[in-house]
Amino acid sequence: MVETQNSYDVVIVGGGLVGIALACALGDQPLRVAVIEALPFETNRSASYDDRTIALAYGARPIFEAMGVWQQLAADVTAIKRIHISDRGHFGAARLDCNDVGCEALGYVVPSRCMGEVLMARVAQFDNVELLCPARVTSLEQDEHAATIVIEREGEQQMLRSGLLVVADGTHSAIREQLQVAVDRHDYGQRGVIANVTPSRHHDNVAFERFTDSGPMAMLPMDESRCALVWTVSEARADELLTLDDEAFLAELQDRFGNRLGRFEKVGNRAAHSLMQIVAQEQVRDRLALIGNAAHTLHPVAGQGFNLGLRDVAVLADLINTAAVSGEDVGSATLLADYAEWRRNDQRYIIGFTDSLVRLFASPLLPIKAARSAGLVALDLLPPLKRWLTRHAMGLGGKLPRLSRGLPLQEK
Ligand SMILES: Cc1cc2nc3c(=O)[nH]c(=O)nc-3n(C[C@H](O)[C@H](O)[C@H](O)COP(=O)(O)OP(=O)(O)OC[C@H]3O[C@@H](n4cnc5c(N)ncnc54)[C@H](O)[C@@H]3O)c2cc1C
Repeated sequence: MVETQNSYDVVIVGGGLVGIALACALGDQPLRVAVIEALPFETNRSASYDDRTIALAYGARPIFEAMGVWQQLAADVTAIKRIHISDRGHFGAARLDCNDVGCEALGYVVPSRCMGEVLMARVAQFDNVELLCPARVTSLEQDEHAATIVIEREGEQQMLRSGLLVVADGTHSAIREQLQVAVDRHDYGQRGVIANVTPSRHHDNVAFERFTDSGPMAMLPMDESRCALVWTVSEARADELLTLDDEAFLAELQDRFGNRLGRFEKVGNRAAHSLMQIVAQEQVRDRLALIGNAAHTLHPVAGQGFNLGLRDVAVLADLINTAAVSGEDVGSATLLADYAEWRRNDQRYIIGFTDSLVRLFASPLLPIKAARSAGLVALDLLPPLKRWLTRHAMGLGGKLPRLSRGLPLQEK
C-alpha cells in the first residue's frame, strides 16, 4: 500500500557530494526540500593514510563560504599554489602560479570523506530539509504541473509530489535510464589508479600534472607531506599495478614520474576506477533537472568533475531561490530553460577541455607530440593565455551566480 503523499518544493534523488551540496545550499530557504539516498547516511570517521581526495577549484571556496561550510573544511584542505604540467620525454612544461591571477591559491585538495562529513553535519542543521534514506525510487512520473515519485523506505511505499525533481544519482543514474535520457558515452578503456604516496621532498603546495606515453598522472599536495596520486593507465596495466608489492609499485611510479619530488618512500592502499565520459543529451525536462555526475561524468585528468557539479548547484540554487522569494514556481519550464542556458558554456568548455586533454596527450603521432610540446611552451610564455586558461580551470569564468561570488542566496 502506498502511504499518503507528501508535498515538497524540491526533491533531490542522490545524496552524494553534489546532491547534498544542493540540499545545503537550499537550507534555511522558504522551501520544503527532501533528499532521497539509496545508502544509509553514515560517514567513516577514522582518519586514514588513504583518504580519497578531491581537487577543488578555487571557485569552490566562495561557494562553500556562502554555504557556511568553508570554515569547517578549512582544517582539512591543502592549498594548491602552483601547477606544473609536463610531458614525459619531451621538452616543454607549463607552470601556473596563483600569484599570476592574484589569488592565495589555484585550488585546494580535500579528502572526500572530510567534505562528506562537513556537508552532512551542515544539512542536518536545517529544519526545511528532510533526509529520506536508505530509500529507493520505485516509480516516477512528471508532467508540466509536478513530479510524482514513489519511494520504498523501511519496507513501506511512500508517494512524494514535488515542484522540482533534481536527479543527482551519479554516473550510472538509474533515474536517467528510467527516463530514457540519451547520453554521449565514451569509454576511454583506461583506469585511474589512485593511492596516497609520500615522497622524500615536500611538495611545496605544487600539483603536478604529468603526461606520459602510458597515460597522464596527477600528483596532488596533501597534508603530512603526502601526495594524492591519480595515475591513468590501460585496463591491463591497472591490474598489474594493483598486484605489485609496494616496493615494485614505488619503483614503477618513480620511473614514470621522475625525481621532481625526490624518492617515493611510502604508498597506501591502491584502488582503480574505470574512466569514462558520459554526458546526458538533455539536462532538463518537465519539472526535472539532472546535475553532477548524472548529467556529466568526466575523466579525472583535470580534476573538474565535482567542481562542475558544484557549479550546477550554485546556479540551480540561485534560480530556485530567486523564484521562491518572489513567490514564483521553482520548477517552471522557464526556470529550467534558464538553468540549461546558464550552464551550457561552462559545461561545454570543461567537458571539451578535459576530453581534448586526454586525447591530445594519448596520441602517439609525432606531429601531435611536437605540437603539444610547443603548446606547453607557448602556454608558459603567453601570460594572457595562461591567465584565461587558469581562471576557467579555477571555475571563475563566465557569469557567476551569487554563491560563486561568496554571497548567501538571501541577505538576512
Ligand atoms: C579517480 C577519480 C578522481 C577524481 N578526482 C576529482 C578531483 O580531483 N576533482 C573533482 O572535481 N572531481 C574529481 N572526481 C570526480 C568526482 O569524484 C565526481 O564528479 C563527484 O563525486 C560526483 O558526485 P555526484 O554526487 O554527482 O555523484 P556520486 O558521488 O556518485 O553520488 C551519487 C549518489 O546517489 C546515490 N544513488 C544512486 N542511485 C540512487 C537511487 N536510485 N536512489 C537514490 N540514491 C541513489 C548514491 O548512493 C550516491 O550517494 C574524481 C573521480 C574519480 C573517479
